[in-house]
This record gives sequence, C-alpha cells and structure tokens, in this order.
Amino acid sequence: MTTIFSKIISKEVPADIVYEDEFALAFLDINPVQPGHTLVIPKTPSIDGLVCGPEDLARLIVIGQKVGLALKEVVQCDGINFIMNNGEAAGQEVFHTHLHVIPRFSDDGAFEEPIVGEYEEGEATSLADTLATTIKN
Ligand code: AMP
Repeated sequence: MTTIFSKIISKEVPADIVYEDEFALAFLDINPVQPGHTLVIPKTPSIDGLVCGPEDLARLIVIGQKVGLALKEVVQCDGINFIMNNGEAAGQEVFHTHLHVIPRFSDDGAFEEPIVGEYEEGEATSLADTLATTIKN
C-alpha cells in the first residue's frame, strides 16, 4: 500500500529526517503537537502496529528512546509521550505503522479533556481474566 510515508522512505516526498538506518526512518511531524514531535516508521510497510512484524515494532520503540533522549537535550522538554494510533477509530490517519515521539512541557495543555472511566463491581476482574486467556504468545 502506497502512503505518504512510503514516499518519504523512497525520498519522492521531502521530510525533515532526524534518524535513518537500514530498517527505519524518523522525521519531524509536519503538524507538531510540540516542536520536535517526531514520527518513527519501519521501512518495511505494514498498516499498523497490530500487524507490524515484532522485530520492526521493537526497533521503533528503541529508536523512539534515542529520539526522546535527544529531544530532552535539544528542546529541553520535561517529558515525552510515545503514542501509536492503530486503526481509524484510534485516530490513525496514515496507514503505515508509526510511533509518535512527542515532547511535553509541564502544563503545556496538550491532550486535555481526558476520559476517566470506571468499572462496575467485578467487571475489571472478569475482563482481565478473559484477556489473559485470549492473549497469544
Ligand atoms: P496518525 O494520526 O497517527 O496516523 O498520524 C499521522 C501523522 O502524520 C500526523 O500527525 C500528521 O501530521 C503526520 N504527517 C502527515 N503527512 C506528513 C508529512 N508529509 N510529513 C510529516 N508528517 C506528516
């Protein structure tokens, strides 16, 4: 599947690249939540993190860690969000697996209006039991 990110990998579309190796690429998000907001993507195309190969998936978080440490130095942020949207309902817009690495500052106001849910009595235990028996090794 061709996406804007595969065109960035092939250099048909320019991007502000901050890291590149044989397997992955990291570049600045064109619409940053905060300056320095970076996307880390595998070079092998996959639609999202649920179908991405485990080695590529692991690489994304390791590169995200390197980028996050550099961001702490360069933009002097107080914290870093690692975010991955998988599927349209989760907010995914570009269907090539990507990890968002987002610098955060104390009281920066990003991602306000959190949804704080609650479980009914026994609901969490039952859901956890079902998940535990469904998770595949
Ligand atoms: P998501 O909603 O998780 O699919 O995020 C896709 C991200 O890709 C958004 O934050 C966009 O701003 C970003 N984006 C889309 N096109 C480009 C581009 N050409 N260069 C850099 N970032 C892009």
